[in-house]
Amino acid sequence: MIDLQLGRMSPQAAEDLVAFDREHIWHPYAPMPAAVPSLPVVSAAGTRLTLADGTELIDGMSSWWAAIHGYRHPKLDAAVTAQLGKMAHVMFGGLTHPPAVRLARKLVDLTPGPLTKVFFADSGSVAVEVAIKMALQYWRSRGRPERRRLLTVRGGYHGDTFGDMAVCDPVNGMHHLFGDVLAQHVFAGAPPSGYDAEPDQGYLDGLRRLAAEHADEIAGVLAEPVVQGAGGMRFYAPEYLQALRETADELGVPLILDEIATGFGRTGEMWGCDHAEVVPDIMCVGKALTGGYMTMAATLCTAEVAGVISGGEAGAPRRSAPPRWPG
Ligand SMILES: *Cc1c(COP(=O)(O)O)cnc(C)c1O
Repeated sequence: MIDLQLGRMSPQAAEDLVAFDREHIWHPYAPMPAAVPSLPVVSAAGTRLTLADGTELIDGMSSWWAAIHGYRHPKLDAAVTAQLGKMAHVMFGGLTHPPAVRLARKLVDLTPGPLTKVFFADSGSVAVEVAIKMALQYWRSRGRPERRRLLTVRGGYHGDTFGDMAVCDPVNGMHHLFGDVLAQHVFAGAPPSGYDAEPDQGYLDGLRRLAAEHADEIAGVLAEPVVQGAGGMRFYAPEYLQALRETADELGVPLILDEIATGFGRTGEMWGCDHAEVVPDIMCVGKALTGGYMTMAATLCTAEVAGVISGGEAGAPRRSAPPRWPG
């Protein structure tokens, strides 16, 4: 059906493909059937997508900020191909393998010093779920289960699963429809926009007041560092990130930074938190992590967070048990 030589399809074949897609494939953030038909991509290289009729488009969005090295990068293509000759995937329960260790080592090296424990996840949304669970389990392990709400800011986006929807912007996010079934977290206002803006003392006082009001029930402080991506690419001053770090310290709770959009140099520094010289206790990475080649993400945390969780009642067994098989 696809002419590999040209990377093109016949007009009829392309029309059939788009028609089937529209009838049967439910795309994200779109109704079913779609209001507008999807564009059929047959190949991609560098910054460009090639459509079925040969039209080339520049993908200025880099597949939602993931394809940071461009499409069909020769090094990435070669690495994927070489790996397929060994194995595509094995479960992580009780097993490990060289590429996972290489990647974890790289993440430990690249991220701020205290982040030394790596939990791999299969999407950014799941990485944020893991981070939320880490914060909650941290307090369960410390015998303070009433600490189960997160302090976050309005205008955030952290993914589309239920745990994540509860920390996305409660009004303008895509998830307000589900407001009545989501966990109820504590929301400060969105940090005032403007990277270079003078910090607003009123905002900072409000943040402190809110934290004090909920001091006994907050399990962690969560935000996207320096730029709120899905909230409209709102940049905010690094001082607000420092204020979030201070707030977490005053409450004695972990700071979780969602670096899924900002990580790997997307804001001019390797990590969004580098703008503020702030180090989180838990950090989520994703998107650019795989250059858009596959969906994968990771949640890193400090030895302190991992130690408390693993030392608690709810932690996994200390001695490694063989994996249990169903049935
Ligand atoms: C994209 C994104 C997520 C969700 O990642 P997925 O891989 O799409 O599930 C979470 N947080 C931020 C800041 C993101 O940009």
